[in-house]
Amino acid sequence: MFEKLALIGIGLIGSSIARAARQKGLARTIAISTRKPETLAEARELGLGDFYTLDAAEAVRDADLVILCTPVGVYGAVMAQIAGALAPGAIVSDVGSVKQAVIKAVAPLVPPGVHFIPGHPIAGTEHSGPASGFPELFVGRWCVLTPEAGADPAAVEKLSGFWRELGSKVEAMSAEHHDLVLAITSHVPHLVAYNIVGTVADLEADTQSEVIKFSASGFRDFTRIAASDPTMWRDVFLHNREATLDILGRFAEELFVLQRAIRMGDGQHLHDYFTRTRAIRRGIIEAGQDTAAPDFGRAGKE
Ligand code: NAP
Repeated sequence: MFEKLALIGIGLIGSSIARAARQKGLARTIAISTRKPETLAEARELGLGDFYTLDAAEAVRDADLVILCTPVGVYGAVMAQIAGALAPGAIVSDVGSVKQAVIKAVAPLVPPGVHFIPGHPIAGTEHSGPASGFPELFVGRWCVLTPEAGADPAAVEKLSGFWRELGSKVEAMSAEHHDLVLAITSHVPHLVAYNIVGTVADLEADTQSEVIKFSASGFRDFTRIAASDPTMWRDVFLHNREATLDILGRFAEELFVLQRAIRMGDGQHLHDYFTRTRAIRRGIIEAGQDTAAPDFGRAGKE
């Protein structure tokens, strides 16, 4: 139980944390800060916290847990704003989808005596804003923590306990490993979805309307992913450049091989390839990361 939880940024993730923390009684007081007055007013109307302010420094005063929930690109600026107001012994964490760039931007600004423990709940939807959150978002999903060497084990355990109370399974790993794994599992798939849907946007109007009219589950699922928040995803690619480019290079190579198999009429290659990918899908279902429901049962997954 924390005395005061401060959430900086109150969109999908911040508001889901607020709702779940309130429901589970994980903080005596919840302070909320965001950039726009209208977003703050919306959070207040939704009753997400106990204290609302546009001044992030005011929100974190006396907080023993501060979680940055803004787009990754502004973490450094937010940290510069709040650093002087942080209480000694406070835990500062975040929910950013990339970790090395966050550590680079935030860690140098963390005052002595404050514990910075980066985090990433691997849970989300394509919706954004305070109204889009829900308390069950993190239930059964992974939350990855990337504490640096020398991080206080008691603070890491306290934060892990917080996420477990929200329903998450918690795992610690290095920020570098996190960024590579997420580039494969989330970042590049999002880029591919943006790319496929963007390709349709470039088609001639009559073809485009046919695509929309007859859109089957494959394309429909891509459009859901490609409807994700543009600011968040711009920041993900700008801040996980190396790992994304590495995986994209491999992706392009695989695509060329498939392209060649189609051109050469190499059905055996295509069949073997699709058999291997089908096994991966089965593995994901067996690991409890998705259901076998034909609509992909995707609610609540990043
Ligand atoms: P979101 O719904 O768009 O919310 C972002 C929040 O940040 C809004 O409250 C926005 O408020 C605020 N904000 C933006 N710029 C700000 C600034 N300069 N100072 C203070 N507040 C600012 O985004 P989200 O989906 O919750 O994502 C937030 C973070 O979670 C990102 O770092 C993302 O990488 C991470 N994440 C997202 C997902 C996902 O699937 N969506 C999953 C896991 C992790 P205003 O309206 O006031 O600007």
